[in-house]
Amino acid sequence: MEKSEKEKWILAGKIGKEARDFGISLAEPGAKLLDIALAIEKKISDAGAKPAFPPNLSLNYFAAHYTPKFKDATELKKGDLLKIDVGASVDGYLSDTAATVLVGGGENKVLDAAKEALSNAIKKVKPGIRIDEISKTIEEAIRGKGCNPIVNLGGHGIERYSIHEADFIPNIRGNSSHMIKKEGAFAIEPFATDGGGYVVDSPEVQILMLVETKPVRSQLGRQILDFIASEYNTLPFAKRWILEKFGIMAELELKPLVSSGALYEFNVLKEQQNGNVAQFEHTLLIDGNEVTVTTE
Ligand code: MN
Ligand code: MN
Repeated sequence: MEKSEKEKWILAGKIGKEARDFGISLAEPGAKLLDIALAIEKKISDAGAKPAFPPNLSLNYFAAHYTPKFKDATELKKGDLLKIDVGASVDGYLSDTAATVLVGGGENKVLDAAKEALSNAIKKVKPGIRIDEISKTIEEAIRGKGCNPIVNLGGHGIERYSIHEADFIPNIRGNSSHMIKKEGAFAIEPFATDGGGYVVDSPEVQILMLVETKPVRSQLGRQILDFIASEYNTLPFAKRWILEKFGIMAELELKPLVSSGALYEFNVLKEQQNGNVAQFEHTLLIDGNEVTVTTE
């Protein structure tokens, strides 16, 4: 790997880690989710980077893909299980990292299960390891705590300007013989739950992503699409970022952009049985025989 390229992966990791930890420090009873998201975004931009995706601040049985909506008034309560999932982009080189907080403190079995699964999985990673070995380690750690892994979420490869790439790293053992990639970045992200272990789409959408630019009839729609292409490229963005820039009328312009295939919507994911969900995630970089956890 080129030295300049490696330095950008490492820097994106460091900024992502600092933004994650800053978010955790703000997660107190009474804190507003929107304020935490804005503080994380500012931390990333003050460090000279951009968000790799909107900060995901998903509560309790929501597993992922919730970022505060425009003027979101949600406040944290004692006992909330908050997943903070953030990433930074340095010239398109990305990080992706998450931690779970039990708001107001205390013990939580689901949180412990996901945390231990990530720690055990990272210890296993070496060049040439089979993905299935990582999955098995995650599954055993989570089941060992009396919880269930979420079977349809998992880790993934990361490429420049693309946060989700092959290979998928499941949170349960399968029968894949795939090896971890020889060079480049990937994320490991165990999700544990006291529910059944399966997430489904909820109707809500707060995060979208550009698929391809298409001709747009409406003038405002065209402006919005041009802005998305130049500002976010193919990285996910928050609906609230568009409403802040173009006003609340912009919401009406997004639907046709989705219907035409220009934009993709990430539905908020919820645990099917409304089980509580915890997640921990790190980005790792493999370069020859060297493994670096960039977000640790
Ligand atoms: Mn993530
Ligand atoms: Mn991820």
